[in-house]
Amino acid sequence: MIVQSNAGQAAPTTSIDAKSVQQPPAMQANILNVEDEAPIRDMVRFALERNGHLVHCASTASEARQMMASQKMDLAIVDWMLPGGSGLEFVRALRKDKMYAQLPVIMLTARTEEHDITAGLDAGADDYVTKPFSPRELQSRIKALLRRSNEFHDGDELVRGTLSLDMAAHRLTVAGDVVELGHTEFKLLAFFMQHPDRVYSRSQLLDHVWGLGTFIEERTVDVHILRLRKCLKPFGAETILQTVRGAGYKLGTDNKF
Ligand code: CA
Repeated sequence: MIVQSNAGQAAPTTSIDAKSVQQPPAMQANILNVEDEAPIRDMVRFALERNGHLVHCASTASEARQMMASQKMDLAIVDWMLPGGSGLEFVRALRKDKMYAQLPVIMLTARTEEHDITAGLDAGADDYVTKPFSPRELQSRIKALLRRSNEFHDGDELVRGTLSLDMAAHRLTVAGDVVELGHTEFKLLAFFMQHPDRVYSRSQLLDHVWGLGTFIEERTVDVHILRLRKCLKPFGAETILQTVRGAGYKLGTDNKF
């Protein structure tokens, strides 16, 4: 089933038969669905409710904000093009808010050019799905993202050498000094700190940090590694991220930093 084929139909929430209702997933989540086009919004709601999730629909960013004030969300699906403020601005604002800095976000976008997708990810989206998409694809992205976000929530603080990552506050300190990191750099460093002394190829890093099936060029990983090293350099900690020639990168705990 493709989203566009659903346009014009009524929300099919009452027409499902008992056999098609699936068991609640292992990870039932409160999912915020921010979309101004009713057919797509209803389709997303239908697909996710079928999978046992609790779906909270908003058609604008301000409506979404109101909902978030009364309900803790586990994940947000945000349309790129929204009336009265783009989805991109909404996600960017979430990342600046301590409460939502870590909220897993999937962007829905009709834009497929790589620079647009990169802009979405730079704004703080964790993954993106391009329209038209199948509910099954969306569901598998959600599943992967919830799993990853649960991994990232394990333990409140990750410590390697002088680096300390406070997962709840979304903050890195090096020997007590707070280091400003972008959202992607934070996730990348968190992944490395959870898996020290192991070499990961660029494509493995894309899968683990950006998400499975992310169609982003591998050099994007290099760009973010570079940014991360730049952030760590004033603290003399950039050497913790090592390039392994012909293989990828690793976080090395064998050298002093
Ligand atoms: Ca829209």
